[in-house]
Amino acid sequence: MRTLGLLGGMSWESSAQYYRLLNEEVRRRLGGSHSAACLLLSVDFAEIARLQHAGDWATLGRLLGDAARQLAAGGAEGLVLCTNTMHCLAAEIEAASGLALLHIADPTGAAIRAQGLKTIGLLGTAFTMEQAFYRERLAQRFGLEVLTPDPAQRQVVHRIIYEELVRGEVRPASRETYRRVIAELVAQGAEGIVLGCTEIMLLVEQSDSAVPLFDTTTLHALAAVDWALS
Ligand code: GLU
Repeated sequence: MRTLGLLGGMSWESSAQYYRLLNEEVRRRLGGSHSAACLLLSVDFAEIARLQHAGDWATLGRLLGDAARQLAAGGAEGLVLCTNTMHCLAAEIEAASGLALLHIADPTGAAIRAQGLKTIGLLGTAFTMEQAFYRERLAQRFGLEVLTPDPAQRQVVHRIIYEELVRGEVRPASRETYRRVIAELVAQGAEGIVLGCTEIMLLVEQSDSAVPLFDTTTLHALAAVDWALS
């Protein structure tokens, strides 16, 4: 089994899910008392969120590049960046570490194509919904048409992530809000919904949506196990 390097803490609420999913899947596949060989480097998310909202992507690139290098020095063989948003710096982080980065959008795009869907709705932070890095990867590599909520709804989806989910707050009223946003994307033609933020799976589940949900946390963790055992 190859050793995974998890770059987490963005937030730890979802990193804990990655850790559980990786270990459950390795045990499911190998049986007995098998578990995932991995290292976790978990950052202080308050500082990450401050730099994101200040638009200081250069400092974030240096910080996460250094963290990835530490994982490589510790013996990690592949890099799992446990957040969608910070994949905007995937190339820099990968180059800094010299490790292969298992990009979160790839197993997501593959799962959507495997179900034969073409048009999907994307929920995530404003950075993920509005910058090109994520939508373009899904469009260019997987031929998907990506819909996002309108600007006011994007703001609400973003606020719930930063003010509630990364702080471990899961509120029924916010679940209702997400259900409404999902329903509107479906009305606009979305055949599936990407939970493109690793904490959204803490808030919504399949019964909150009329179309299939694609949870990036689970898809990314399962792809990491594929890689580790390949
Ligand atoms: N975990 C979230 C994501 O998947 C948001 C936190 C962050 O900005 O890294 O995008």
